[in-house]
Amino acid sequence: ELHRRLDIPGDDEVARLASSLDRMLDRLEIAVEGYKQFTGDASHELRTPFTVMKGEISLALQKDRSATYYKEVLEGMEEEVDRLIRMVEQLLFLARADGDKIKNRLETVNLYETLVPLLEQMNVLAVAKHQQLKWNIPVNTDAYTDSDAIQQILWNLLDNAIKYTPDHGEIEVNIERRPGWARILVSDNGNGISEDHLKFIFDRFYRVDKGRSRELGGTGLGLAIAQKLAHLVGGSLKVSSEVGNGTIFSLELPLTPAAP
Ligand code: ADP
Repeated sequence: ELHRRLDIPGDDEVARLASSLDRMLDRLEIAVEGYKQFTGDASHELRTPFTVMKGEISLALQKDRSATYYKEVLEGMEEEVDRLIRMVEQLLFLARADGDKIKNRLETVNLYETLVPLLEQMNVLAVAKHQQLKWNIPVNTDAYTDSDAIQQILWNLLDNAIKYTPDHGEIEVNIERRPGWARILVSDNGNGISEDHLKFIFDRFYRVDKGRSRELGGTGLGLAIAQKLAHLVGGSLKVSSEVGNGTIFSLELPLTPAAP
């Protein structure tokens, strides 16, 4: 609930100052609320798997079990620990990005050379799910951008497209070029995301199906990071989706240096 704190009538100058201070306070309040929410969510996301693992350890120690039993418990825990390490790394990245500690390295980048090796790598994962990953990237598209950031964004989008599209699905990567900018489209013909979920999809830790994301090793941070990175290179990341038909992520990128 935001309310007016300062209501000073009379002098125009003072009233203007008061209302601009008011807006600043509102923004600050929203930011503080956001951080409180984030810290709470992060603590919860980290505590839950630890509690589960603690339970499994106690159970395993209660009485003598077979070697197979211990091995299974350890294997399950290793997967969970890997996921937690990934989550902590992603959280560290977001903390650094929030503090403006991440600098982009902008240079002329050929998108074909940047993306095709990554697509070939991702294709191995798609083939394992009998999916078709197709791409159509003109060889001569140059962007003035950060190639590591672009690769990370595309990796996150493709990893999701492959994970959340059923076996035998299709995934495509296309580029639309316009004067001065380009749009990289990652589309899949999976189950799609309903409107109520779509508006939160870039929020940290937001997942349509928590259990399923977790089973697939997800952390709920991939899209938040992809969007941060898109902003870092002066671009934007948007989504559109239709339940039953699939999802399209669209990364808009400037191709030329921003005017000073
Ligand atoms: P996660 O680690 O859970 O994959 P993300 O931030 O990468 O986290 O994605 C958030 C959620 O968005 C996912 O849990 C999933 O529910 C949904 N999602 C992302 N990409 C797709 C997609 N291509 N098709 C359907 N759902 C998707």
